[in-house]
Amino acid sequence: MPETAVYGGAINSEIEDEDYEDDGEEEEENSSPELTAQSSPRPPFSTNFEKDRHLIYLKMMYELLPHHYQSQEINRVTLAHFIISGLHFLGATDRVEKDVVANWVLSFQALPSSRVSLKKGEFYGFFGSRSSQFPLDKNGDLTHNNSHLASTYCALAILKVIGHDLSTVDSESLSLSLKNLQQDDGSFMPIHTGGETDLRFVYCAAAICDMLGNWSGMDKEKAKNYILNCQSYDGGFGLIPGSESHGGGTYCAIASLRLMGFIGSDLLSNASSSSIIDASLLLNWSLQRQASDGGFQGRTNKRSDTCYAFWIGAVLKLIGGDAFIDKTALRQFLLTCQSKYGGFSKFPGELPDLYHSYYGYTAFSLLEEPELSPLCPELGLPLLAASGI
Ligand SMILES: [Zn+2]
Repeated sequence: MPETAVYGGAINSEIEDEDYEDDGEEEEENSSPELTAQSSPRPPFSTNFEKDRHLIYLKMMYELLPHHYQSQEINRVTLAHFIISGLHFLGATDRVEKDVVANWVLSFQALPSSRVSLKKGEFYGFFGSRSSQFPLDKNGDLTHNNSHLASTYCALAILKVIGHDLSTVDSESLSLSLKNLQQDDGSFMPIHTGGETDLRFVYCAAAICDMLGNWSGMDKEKAKNYILNCQSYDGGFGLIPGSESHGGGTYCAIASLRLMGFIGSDLLSNASSSSIIDASLLLNWSLQRQASDGGFQGRTNKRSDTCYAFWIGAVLKLIGGDAFIDKTALRQFLLTCQSKYGGFSKFPGELPDLYHSYYGYTAFSLLEEPELSPLCPELGLPLLAASGI
């Protein structure tokens, strides 16, 4: 399994999501995707967003993760982000022991023993879990630094969400060393020892710079050019230049451009001449991802999946095209993925998981569900936390 498939972060699991990782499992459970698609849709157990059930689900996950998550131990910071940021969407951050959580998160930052070690080309971000955090050597040096961009995004997100002062993060080391991950073509590696370079990590880097309020770790022009090279002939964005358009890649592209200040909220109204991307084509591609069952698919000819209601819904929000979403149909689809145990599943009628639960909450927030906090679409976080209030 490639390192980034198992290593830290929302962005990794997002893009692995429907296509690359769990198709096997899906086919075991559903003997034929075609048969499933043809059978009549399962009715939702409720026609409402069941806030109280979601609170019970997240509180339970906050206290003790079920053994099914054992294989995701290396993504522990990411799982914590889904739980704690999810609780914030539900207006329940009072359930979180903020000082305990802040100290726990801060304990994952890789710290240089001196400024000299910053010159070695290493990245001083956050580890994904204790099992990837090696002890310091007898000289106090970090000999195995596995800090990762995706875990760093999640760690900073948690700190923002609980209202922790980010001045306690060594942001200077983080920002200075972020430069070491950017490649000549503008893309980013997730970890200084190597790994796939694609739009996921451009996005993580942009979100980190935004959260820290420090863009010194990124050459924005280079990153912009890389992103623009990822727009496909059909208007969507692939993860790397020349690859198939994908909901996750498209989100990473548009959200990064917004965070970097290259596009505004009026993209569609200005699309004819001044936009740096083909916004009309992007609008068409994004709207075509809403399937006949009301949900969004990540790619052409794939099944609707809860998380793409956020990935593509947020793109449409960011480009000012969300008025064209059939929101009633999308809500109906999402309700078929709402579990009676709380949380959301990937597909209708399955058991919930933390990843799809979190992006179910963000999707319902996009739909302006009154019981949820508003969303900052470019950061994928609650709006209050994103704006630092
Ligand atoms: Zn998904």
